[in-house]
Amino acid sequence: MIDKEIENLINKEAKRQVEGVELIASENYVSKDVLECMGSILTNKYSEGYPGKRYYGGNTYIDEIEQLAIDRAKELFHADHVNVQPYSGSPANLAVHVALLQTGDTTMSMSLSAGGHLSHGFKASVSGKYYNNITYGVDDNGYIDYDEVRRLANEYKPKLIWAGFSAYSRIIDWKEFRKIADGVGAYLVADISHVAGLVASGCYPSPVGIADVVTTTTHKTLRGPRGALIMCSDSLAKEIDKAVFPGIQGGPHNHIIAGIAVALKEASTEEFKEYSKQIIKNAQTLAEALQSRGYKIISGGTDNHMFLVNIVDSVGLTGEEASVTLESVNITINKNTIPNDTRNTWDPSGIRIGVPAITTRGMKEKEMLQISSFVDEALRNHKDKNKLMNIKREVVDFSKKYPIPSISLY
Ligand SMILES: *Cc1c(COP(=O)(O)O)cnc(C)c1O
Repeated sequence: MIDKEIENLINKEAKRQVEGVELIASENYVSKDVLECMGSILTNKYSEGYPGKRYYGGNTYIDEIEQLAIDRAKELFHADHVNVQPYSGSPANLAVHVALLQTGDTTMSMSLSAGGHLSHGFKASVSGKYYNNITYGVDDNGYIDYDEVRRLANEYKPKLIWAGFSAYSRIIDWKEFRKIADGVGAYLVADISHVAGLVASGCYPSPVGIADVVTTTTHKTLRGPRGALIMCSDSLAKEIDKAVFPGIQGGPHNHIIAGIAVALKEASTEEFKEYSKQIIKNAQTLAEALQSRGYKIISGGTDNHMFLVNIVDSVGLTGEEASVTLESVNITINKNTIPNDTRNTWDPSGIRIGVPAITTRGMKEKEMLQISSFVDEALRNHKDKNKLMNIKREVVDFSKKYPIPSISLY
């Protein structure tokens, strides 16, 4: 690259990725093919509109690329209609609001502190400013209480109910949500951003065909570029497409859509199914290993790729302190509120741990035991700078043994 400043920083970031253990539940490493699409000349092209109906000329091949992405998504998720243009998960969810609601309408979603997402009506987001959102939480064991969701729905009569999460380690009963939504005549929208890869491979129940609309990011367990999909029945297709463009977006990011097409093809392979199964095995192994070292796992375990730890009750550190300590030994997690947290979002009582990224590097059960030891040792010795330095060295040596598909530094 001519721009050495940026090149240098990209190289430093590559080294950081290679030399660390990535436990952020929403992150992953894309394949070389996905990366090549994202760095391709497709970014040069404007193509406002949809395949066959564009505002600019020269879209012969762009049309074919977008259609491939659509067809692959329809096949993989068994969806009637798919929009592949949302720039990311939050705009996809905003488009759903725009398609199905009037401003001021009531929506209902899982609260942020219980594991919901900002774009599901949280006050600081446009979805909470222009729409009137009410929230449901989880019970003291960390499970969704469907009777409570039903009670709230009956009381507030939302027009749209969100089911989906950023921090929930259990199976969602999509059918129960459907019944609750039907009971009050609400749209049911499922957001499978976190578990899309597990859904695609049959390792987590699919809401497609149950919810009216299903949204997902493409860059988490699905292992594609940063983007999103909106899936719906043919009857809502026109409204959804209009809401994405021209409703809230302009020209689609064609380089990303090509990367999504590639990721969808990869996700339909037997290899990806094995990857998904290993994700769940790894998450369960890591949760159990930490549990046996005295850590308090919310809901007692996990059915998917992640879990929450009550870190204050486990080792007497706050989420922020745990995050800083682990980062100092090249282990990345995020601080997270836990159900009914008494602390705040900037320094909550918990941390969230996820394994999609390390599973992409080929790590299995044995490595989970090693990682639980690194985490535990670091947190218990958080005041001992020497000890932390030694652990960091071990983490670097350990990490470098597991290649990242698109990085060839070592
Ligand atoms: C990650 C996530 C999103 C938002 O995705 P961005 O691409 O960061 O905008 C939306 N919903 C859920 C449930 C998520 O986990």
